[in-house]
Amino acid sequence: MSSSFDVAIAGAGLAGSCAALTLSRTRRVVVLEPEAEPATRASGAAAGLANPLMGRRPRLAWRIDEALDALRTVLREAGAEKLLRENGIVRPAVTGRHAAAFREAAEEHPDRTAWIDENELAERHPAVRADGGGALLVRRGGAVDVPAMTRALLAKAEVRGATVRFGAHLTNWRETPGGGVRISVNGAETLEAEHLVLAPGAGFSAFPALDLDLEKIKGQTIRVRAPVGLDAGSLPFLSGSGYVVPDGDALVLGSTYERDFDDLAPSPDQSDYILQKTSRMLPALAEADVVEARAGVRVKVPNSRYPLLDRLARRVWYFGALGSKGLLTAPLLARGLPRFLGEPAALPREVTLGRD
Ligand SMILES: Cc1cc2nc3c(=O)[nH]c(=O)nc-3n(C[C@H](O)[C@H](O)[C@H](O)COP(=O)(O)OP(=O)(O)OC[C@H]3O[C@@H](n4cnc5c(N)ncnc54)[C@H](O)[C@@H]3O)c2cc1C
Repeated sequence: MSSSFDVAIAGAGLAGSCAALTLSRTRRVVVLEPEAEPATRASGAAAGLANPLMGRRPRLAWRIDEALDALRTVLREAGAEKLLRENGIVRPAVTGRHAAAFREAAEEHPDRTAWIDENELAERHPAVRADGGGALLVRRGGAVDVPAMTRALLAKAEVRGATVRFGAHLTNWRETPGGGVRISVNGAETLEAEHLVLAPGAGFSAFPALDLDLEKIKGQTIRVRAPVGLDAGSLPFLSGSGYVVPDGDALVLGSTYERDFDDLAPSPDQSDYILQKTSRMLPALAEADVVEARAGVRVKVPNSRYPLLDRLARRVWYFGALGSKGLLTAPLLARGLPRFLGEPAALPREVTLGRD
């Protein structure tokens, strides 16, 4: 038996769920996800920071204002705006070099940031330490529960008539002379769609014929119970030596970057490393109890700061390589996707394969 859709999306992570939301406004969409729920891979491991100025030498993320607006818009469209906690981000400088770079950023972006010295930091956030002598306050940005976001986006897509199928693994496809794509699911069943959007995260490497030159970087986050005496609710989002995202009476801490890895499971050594790293900003974390560890694989275009959204064949698209900034790129690109499918020339050049 074969069913017919306008767009089939393979993958229910951040990329696939953002695509499902925007495409389901006007098209018949099917989402195929091998696992039993969305966001089990990279999107499930994400700490959920939407940080406009990342890096030791802070640099504004690509199209940052549009990106934050797009994030807010997709959440609002799904009735889930409460998931975005946009309180800004505090970036403690842990060394003098950080402090110099952060002060420079504050001078360069006075409308978006401010440098606060250690006295002011101690007054505002007594539990936070900044050995470099102060912190960069980033006024916009915040955090989102990524798995909850993907569930909300997919639920809204379903309300609009999209079909979301779990336990459904895209195993193959071919374009048909009639101008569509014939898709195999779980090696057996066939679907027809006008377009196929591949959003499989690190699952791209199961399809060598795609010939995609993308990097895989394993990362881990941990959830810890707030140590006694630390009021997690009063803490800001922190990003300096790793990052800290308070969540109720727990804290999500990240992260690791492993380029050589054999297995995908989280490891206790990496958990210790994260505790050590983040306790440079929040000393109380040194002895925190780890409640849960999650690992996932980020996908990235080598030597590039941009994600990838491009047509790989007439009707087949790849949407991913979101690196460490899925929250700032997936909603932004998904917003244009309904148009790009019919008008590929409208794609921002930076995110296409012909970028150089
Ligand atoms: C430790 C860690 C921390 C992070 N922290 C942040 C953060 O704080 N802020 C931020 O913005 N970003 C963060 N990121 C990055 C962010 O998680 C990713 O950019 C984003 O989640 C990637 O989404 P994706 O949909 O491309 O991939 P994934 O989330 O990996 O989703 C891909 C989906 O495709 C499915 N799939 C695979 N193969 C197939 C197939 N053949 N058919 C159908 N489906 C398939 C998978 O099961 C999966 O559900 C972090 C990443 C990691 C690893």
